[in-house]
Amino acid sequence: METELKKKISSLCEGDVKFDVPMRDYTSMKVGGRVECLAFPPSVQHVSALVRFLCDRGIPFVPTGNGTNLIVREGGFRGVLLGLGRLKNISLLPVEEGMGFYAEAGASLREIINLAVERQMTGIEFLAGIPGSVGGAVRMNAGAWGREIKDVLKDVSIANADGEIKCFPAETLPFRYRSLELKPSEVIVGAVFLLAPGEREKIEACIEEIWRKRRMRHPLDYPSAGSIFKNPPGKSAGRLIEETGLKGLEIGGARVSEKHANFIVNTGSASASDVVELINVIKREVKKKHGITLETEVVIIGENGPQEETVELI
Ligand SMILES: Cc1cc2nc3c(=O)[nH]c(=O)nc-3n(C[C@H](O)[C@H](O)[C@H](O)COP(=O)(O)OP(=O)(O)OC[C@H]3O[C@@H](n4cnc5c(N)ncnc54)[C@H](O)[C@@H]3O)c2cc1C
Repeated sequence: METELKKKISSLCEGDVKFDVPMRDYTSMKVGGRVECLAFPPSVQHVSALVRFLCDRGIPFVPTGNGTNLIVREGGFRGVLLGLGRLKNISLLPVEEGMGFYAEAGASLREIINLAVERQMTGIEFLAGIPGSVGGAVRMNAGAWGREIKDVLKDVSIANADGEIKCFPAETLPFRYRSLELKPSEVIVGAVFLLAPGEREKIEACIEEIWRKRRMRHPLDYPSAGSIFKNPPGKSAGRLIEETGLKGLEIGGARVSEKHANFIVNTGSASASDVVELINVIKREVKKKHGITLETEVVIIGENGPQEETVELI
């Protein structure tokens, strides 16, 4: 990246920029090639100025929150990873607008759940244990236990290529199972959550129960990106993988979890290539056994490493 460009991006982020960064330091799976530039704008206004600048210059960029559903291939990503982690403001709604709050994209789900507990608001307990940010969770339409984040959203604020920030009623947005369809140039900067009054003890008990189930079912002792595949209609991806006999299968340091077959865990030394290769093997074997093509839930960006062949299917 040219020096002039680096300087401009840096000034748009008040200096909070890194170059040539290994993504294993910024993703929950702890794998990943290098990104050319990782930029952390300090405010919504800075995000919108940066998005406009990158769009005007035709520089590829990808937003990221907590990196818990993101893998950068071994060959790295040429462009800007736009980190929303500094947008952490959360404010309660005025009483006349209902019970809820506005949270900026970089606030973590843990933070908004803590607020809901404190203020005795019920409705987002199902998000407990999902380690993402508000922006990432809205983009992925994160969900669990039969519920999705879209069900508790009132509005979503989105920065676009023209440097505008527009607020959309959630019901007008194209939410799907584990995704909100956005243009590549669009970045979620915040969302309004509408909840209901609840009792603190009940809310806490519900969250504790969810954590108990997660600890029992999920391999939380290893780095992972959560569920690798979406559930095909009416089926469980984990069950299909298990029935294909793939539990425990390892490529390099990446392993199909013994505890939950839809999780790939990093046993310590996995590379992004190991993970991507394992994903492809799972897809191929499940297709052979069940005739079903699994679709990844985890988002994979970047280029293949020098040793890799063109990656199929993803
Ligand atoms: C142990 C574990 C358990 C998990 N359990 C669940 C679960 O039960 N249910 C579930 O749905 N997910 C689960 N996940 C996956 C993940 O935590 C969620 O998808 C989460 O919402 C992703 O948020 P993030 O901030 O980490 O997003 P990232 O990983 O940073 O990004 C994910 C995607 O969202 C895009 N994105 C991020 N921020 C923005 C933004 N501001 N604007 C536009 N696009 C953006 C990225 O470009 C990328 O495409 C789990 C993950 C782990 C590691």
